[in-house]
Amino acid sequence: MSDDNWDLRRKLWEEAHGTPHPFSLGAVLGTFEGFKERYNVSEVKTYINPPDECDACQASFIRREGEPMFDARTTTGQWGNLCRVCFDSMHCSLGTGRGQEYAFSVEHNAWVKVAG
Ligand SMILES: [Zn+2]
Repeated sequence: MSDDNWDLRRKLWEEAHGTPHPFSLGAVLGTFEGFKERYNVSEVKTYINPPDECDACQASFIRREGEPMFDARTTTGQWGNLCRVCFDSMHCSLGTGRGQEYAFSVEHNAWVKVAG
């Protein structure tokens, strides 16, 4: 599950968020215990019925370790599943009622909430 690209994606994520990537805390153990402990959650939250592509640009969401996917409210008030490029260009933000960030977990074969 680990690869050079994942290491790069993780590095970029950590630079943008200023915290360790959640996956780096638990995924290596195969249990996500570190993830749950740090974020004080009892279970890993995954996205139910995830879309295949970005609502705005139709780019495919890549099911690769740590790839991002956003569920966010745009400036028009509409919610959408967005890629990082669209999330940034549409000036979306993370937080309750605004937007959530998910990252693909190979271990869970699902998009796991990591921020927002
Ligand atoms: Zn997009």
